[in-house]
Amino acid sequence: TQANYVAPQDYQSRTPPYEKLLNNLSTVKKIVNNQPLTLAEKILYSHLVNPEESFASSQGNIANIRGLQYLKLNPDRVAMQDASAQMALLQFMTCGMSSTAVPASIHCDHLIVGKDGAEDDLVKSIATNKEVFDFLQSCGEKYGIQFWGPGSGIIHQIVLENFSVPGLMMLGTDSHTPNAGGLGAIAIGVGGADAVDALTGTPWELKAPKVLGVKLTGKLSGWSSPKDVITKLAGVLTVRGGTGYIVEYFGEGVETLSCTGMATICNMGAEIGATTSTFPYQDAHRRYLIETGRGPIANIVDQVHKDTNFLAADKGAEYDKVIEINLSDLEPHVNGPFTPDLSTPISKFSEKTQQEGWPEKISAGLIGSCTNSSYQDMSRAVSIIKQAEAVGLKPKIPFFVTPGSEQIRATIERDGLINTFEKNGAIVLANACGPCIGQWDRTDIPKTSSETNSIFTSFNRNFRARNDGNRNTMNFLTSPDIVTAMIYSGDSNYNPITDSIKLENGQEFKFQPPQGDELPNEGFIKGREEFYPEPNPQPKPQVEVNVSPESDRLQLLDPFEPWSGDELSTNVLLKVEGKCTTDHISAAGAWLKYKGHLENISYNTLIGAINQETGEVNKAYDLNGDQYSIPELMIKWKEESRPWIVIAEHNYGEGSAREHAALSPRFLGGSIILVKSFARIHETNLKKQGMLPLTFANEEDYDKISSGDLITTIDLQDLIKKDGNNGGSLRVNVTKKDGTSFEILTKHTMSKDQIEFFKAGSAINYIGNLKKQ
Ligand code: SF4
Repeated sequence: TQANYVAPQDYQSRTPPYEKLLNNLSTVKKIVNNQPLTLAEKILYSHLVNPEESFASSQGNIANIRGLQYLKLNPDRVAMQDASAQMALLQFMTCGMSSTAVPASIHCDHLIVGKDGAEDDLVKSIATNKEVFDFLQSCGEKYGIQFWGPGSGIIHQIVLENFSVPGLMMLGTDSHTPNAGGLGAIAIGVGGADAVDALTGTPWELKAPKVLGVKLTGKLSGWSSPKDVITKLAGVLTVRGGTGYIVEYFGEGVETLSCTGMATICNMGAEIGATTSTFPYQDAHRRYLIETGRGPIANIVDQVHKDTNFLAADKGAEYDKVIEINLSDLEPHVNGPFTPDLSTPISKFSEKTQQEGWPEKISAGLIGSCTNSSYQDMSRAVSIIKQAEAVGLKPKIPFFVTPGSEQIRATIERDGLINTFEKNGAIVLANACGPCIGQWDRTDIPKTSSETNSIFTSFNRNFRARNDGNRNTMNFLTSPDIVTAMIYSGDSNYNPITDSIKLENGQEFKFQPPQGDELPNEGFIKGREEFYPEPNPQPKPQVEVNVSPESDRLQLLDPFEPWSGDELSTNVLLKVEGKCTTDHISAAGAWLKYKGHLENISYNTLIGAINQETGEVNKAYDLNGDQYSIPELMIKWKEESRPWIVIAEHNYGEGSAREHAALSPRFLGGSIILVKSFARIHETNLKKQGMLPLTFANEEDYDKISSGDLITTIDLQDLIKKDGNNGGSLRVNVTKKDGTSFEILTKHTMSKDQIEFFKAGSAINYIGNLKKQ
């Protein structure tokens, strides 16, 4: 009976409201005449605020929804990491609510430096970031948000261990939020302003994604691991291939994977631009829920699935595209440098290194992060280390391990894995992001070094300067198994599957394939109590959240100006060439400390961008030809009340959910970003901050525009009046410096609500106005 779907009191905030979801889904099913649905659709549509309204234009056919219709959704939960939580909460505070509308959590992970090891690094990082952590903690207390303090772990690992459940829909202010899809959730990475929608109970909007099916057959064996599924897929699909899609895995191969392995695969779905990724309910999910202390939830999930088949695709469900991967044939892959889709099978890596002139010497190996720090990953890595230890082989290069959570760290300590790592020269860093997000205080190679160097990591992202702040560090992404084996050769030409290493005694040594345990035989232990927050925190309105006006880390927000109702007339401040990720638009590393201070962080705006006209990085030219850094010219034009526009190429804003990449340009006087194509999260972030994100109707028009040109919208009022839900087009006039002018056509994807954001000046202004009504 449905009464069985209600969890015991202590688990209720962590169990999706299955009864309500199933009711919603049955309404949708009626509207589409019982057409079979994919799992992704079932979870998404069951979270609709009003299924009848969202499906009004469906004409009884799901094909009229997918990829076309904006959906208004009610997510179940929100998670925020320390860097992005600051701006999310500063925005939430402006709405005047006393508590959040859904359960939420804050995770202090991005601001922790990795250098000497967990203990020293954590003490120093807490001291350096005290003001920010205190702010986040006081927000948590005031609004009833769970606060996971520094050292407790990385957001996605903690979400997997505590909050992700099959059928859940959640938002996270981090692009790797889809990690939770490994446990059958729909988990979507968003900017802080989107998180505020969910936190305030305002419907959250998403264009119904298409669904890309990945059929897994066969079974992994030997050196192949779940990481290779996604590193291979990234090579097939490229960084843009998943845009507009949810990736849904199916096929008998799925049954052979561990829950944490599925999480690794979903985590890196962010690298192909997918909205999110998910897996159907498996016994591995049940095992993981039980082992992570959620047996009562596992029982409900089991019952729901048995009764309704809610947690798998319907028989006959159609995917918009299908890709098949045979796990039995899958080889380990190595992806990089500088882009996660440059995928090379390990057997071809030496040849590719020679062809491309990449460094043959590897300078460091790093494993862990939110992508690959499961018990299975760690135990497999240790199985390699133990083989080396047994024959007296020592690592040739520095080796770092970042556990994903206190639970993982304490469990691998109890089981002797940490001891093996440390005895063999590894530095075990804090349970935090550290080197994955530019917080690697590296001493062996200076940040400014002009020589290239290679690192091998089990992380998920490898844009320039991502790890150690050095643009010439080439990060090759691969499985923890391959990284661990590579530290014993330090040579890119080495293939641990086929090659041997000469020992000091002259003998040849070849590793056997790694072995690991899916879950710890003796169960997980929680570790140090001080890293765990109250399970169900209640709001405490009496708590004061202090932001000092003198602070250089935190700054209260002033609302952006609403649209004046006139045409936008903007000068081209910069024409960007090539890849322009959120790391180029709003750099991380040292800048992370200013995430809560919009003015200070805005000095990093587009400093990584390449000026198409000069080939220079971070250089822009005033109308009279004077040279400035890009943010300097933005500030100058803002002071002169000269609105500006940036022109760029494909997949602009690829990468993270970093909303500062939208907030800072808006703060510095930007009005329009006109590009060949956008990455989804960034495009939404621009809309949320009241910018006009446009794409060229004809890509060749990019070539006709130069910096300094005056670009003026034509009949913007019409767009505001006419367009809605499925976007539309907008003509703009381009006036060159010599006075000649021509017209081009651009497109936008704004829904009716998003047009309201533009009119109000930002989504927060719009929500604030609604709450006041
Ligand atoms: Fe942290 Fe890196 Fe994971 Fe992002 S990808 S959450 S920076 S470990």
